[in-house]
Amino acid sequence: MSVTKVHARQIFDSRGNPTVEVDLYTERGRFRAAVPSGASTGVHEAVELRDGDKANYVGKGVSKAVSNVNDILGPELVKSGLKVTQQKEIDDFLIKLDGTPNKGKLGANAILGVSIAVVEAGAAEKGVPVYQHLAELAGVKPPYVLPCPAFNVINGGSHAGNKLAFQEFMLLPTGASSFTEAMKIGTETYHTLKKVISAKYGIDAVNVGDEGGFAPNVSGAEEALELLSEAIKKAGYEGKIKIALDVASSEFYKDGKYDLDFKNPKSDPQNYISGTELAELYISYCNKYPIVSVEDPFDQDDWEAWVHFTKHSSVQIVGDDLTVTNPLRIKTAIEKKACNGLLLKINQIGTISESIQAAQLAQSDGWGVMVSHRSGETENTIIADLVVALGTGQIKTGAPARSERVAKYNALLRIEEEISGSGATYAGGKGLAEGLNAPALHKK
Ligand code: PEP
Ligand code: MG
Repeated sequence: MSVTKVHARQIFDSRGNPTVEVDLYTERGRFRAAVPSGASTGVHEAVELRDGDKANYVGKGVSKAVSNVNDILGPELVKSGLKVTQQKEIDDFLIKLDGTPNKGKLGANAILGVSIAVVEAGAAEKGVPVYQHLAELAGVKPPYVLPCPAFNVINGGSHAGNKLAFQEFMLLPTGASSFTEAMKIGTETYHTLKKVISAKYGIDAVNVGDEGGFAPNVSGAEEALELLSEAIKKAGYEGKIKIALDVASSEFYKDGKYDLDFKNPKSDPQNYISGTELAELYISYCNKYPIVSVEDPFDQDDWEAWVHFTKHSSVQIVGDDLTVTNPLRIKTAIEKKACNGLLLKINQIGTISESIQAAQLAQSDGWGVMVSHRSGETENTIIADLVVALGTGQIKTGAPARSERVAKYNALLRIEEEISGSGATYAGGKGLAEGLNAPALHKK
């Protein structure tokens, strides 16, 4: 069945910024998709088309992207007669209509909205769940693997109004026996952490950041890690929870150095640290806490620091701003041995087919792949289906709180229920890549 009509509109994301929603119609009905948006975006990401008209929506309107769907992508797709099950052909067709290497003409936000809606329509056409359709598109065979969630429970960096430079402190219930149990462990520890923070710093310290994690005004990463350790212990889950960091360090890279006080307008350049000093900090944290994954430890173009750290590290080193879900950047990272993990964000590249390609390219070199939300999210849950389809065993979609985050976790609970008894398993820590230096990772 082919597409009969496509209609896009402007809606709002979890930060109150405009974003693109697409309704795509076939004779089977209407299929809806919405597009997320980052704050700590990488400079090499595909283009998110914004109107830039400061008089409206502080420049963040997406009326041009919406028009590009309504006037170009939609009508051309209808005319093409392509079937909604032909995901790759449709995505290639959309890419061609744009005609630029970074989707700068029509906008990755316009293209992705259509691409996701086509997935939904394709699944309905086949009469199968979305994760099954995606798995078939990716050539992945069951049994399915439910991912280990990475709950971002302390927010810093560009996602919070505190002093903390590192962006994300995540809890990974690797010791759970199912996704459902991982949710229990994650939510209980989240609530325990709230009590720990409140007792230490007062009630105003438990306000949350963009992804639902707490945003206390701690002095630095070590203090945040101590809070996590205390919460894990008090909740009774020592040994069952590992820790992951997203440093998002491109946000504070200045003149070849790293400014851990970057949110202070009067930060002192004398205190900026080198990549080597930053690597030493990571190593000391990894030695003291049960850290299994570090994302964006260095700037998106500081390749040398990445290569050096990956060579000496025992944990998963994840490229986000470095690799931007772009097969070309991933290839370079593989060649250089710059990291061993991929953060998979569908809007960094702009189509579902290219996202699948990016994941499989990374996996072909033995990398871990963590499917990810953006800090600006919608109710859309396609990433829950995608992670099950790809079987990569890792997802991060914020704290286990706030509906735009929990929507994805809840979708995974439903999938787990649906496929129970089919031989499906929970990944635990098995999806994590081990660093070159650390065969004992899972024993920590
Ligand atoms: C991230 O950096 O991994 C992230 C989810 O944040 P953003 O969407 O702001 O890039
Ligand atoms: Mg990141």
